[in-house]
Amino acid sequence: MSESTIPQSRPWQQPFWKPAPGGAKVLLYLVLIHLLAITGLILFPLPSLKVLGASLLIMALGGLGTTVIYHRVLAHKTLKINPLIEQLLIFFAVFNGSGHPVSWVAYHRHHHAHADGPEDISSPKHGGFWWAHLRWLYQSAPADRQRWCPELNRGAYKIWDYAETPTILLSLFCGPLLGFSWQGFFWMGAMRLVYSLHMQCFVNSLTHLGRAADGDTSQNVWWLGPLQIGAWGENWHKNHHTYAASARLGLRWWQPDVGWYFIWTLETLGLASGVKRPRLQ
Ligand SMILES: [Zn+2]
Ligand SMILES: [Zn+2]
Repeated sequence: MSESTIPQSRPWQQPFWKPAPGGAKVLLYLVLIHLLAITGLILFPLPSLKVLGASLLIMALGGLGTTVIYHRVLAHKTLKINPLIEQLLIFFAVFNGSGHPVSWVAYHRHHHAHADGPEDISSPKHGGFWWAHLRWLYQSAPADRQRWCPELNRGAYKIWDYAETPTILLSLFCGPLLGFSWQGFFWMGAMRLVYSLHMQCFVNSLTHLGRAADGDTSQNVWWLGPLQIGAWGENWHKNHHTYAASARLGLRWWQPDVGWYFIWTLETLGLASGVKRPRLQ
């Protein structure tokens, strides 16, 4: 599969079921986890406390991996973190369905570079809600990793070229593998992955439905915060587009940001350094 920096022209005009070259496996994965999640919801509408607790814990660790490591450490370089903690949290982010860290960063830098323009890879302004929410995941051309994040072209990150698929398979089957029954299979596997997926997708869709006079569509969505276990603090997306160089997304004391509390704790323990704080206007 060749990676291109040239965006397809108006890819959202394709029929929704037609994947871009290389996108078929993503579409298959999305269909599969949704079918399994619906089946699980019918068979086991209420999980046991143990199964629910285990699902939430895995999701919470994956959420920290995505927002702290993928977004704040790797994509925006707003802090440096202990490499062991970084690798561990990358594992949980991949386990939680957030994808390859290098692809994530390439797509994300592409998004910031073209935010709200026709080349924005996940803009609801141009492609509509469902394009921004899910369709771009399998219908857009891959972002060029070498162009957008050449510094990540090294072993610690490239290892996920090989480890991503086995990790996702482990993730799907983690319930039974950890000794839980069928209920664990559905809730800790596909149902957790579907929930995490949509909580992260809302950052591309819902938090870009604003209408500022200058054309900026990013907005803070306060009520998404408590639901967003798969992407802690990412609901303060207007803050983020305004202060992209800040490691902190919830800028006011009344804007909870679990990712920031985690970073602050690591910094206090000497496990994070160079933490960039916002200079509020
Ligand atoms: Zn960002
Ligand atoms: Zn954005």
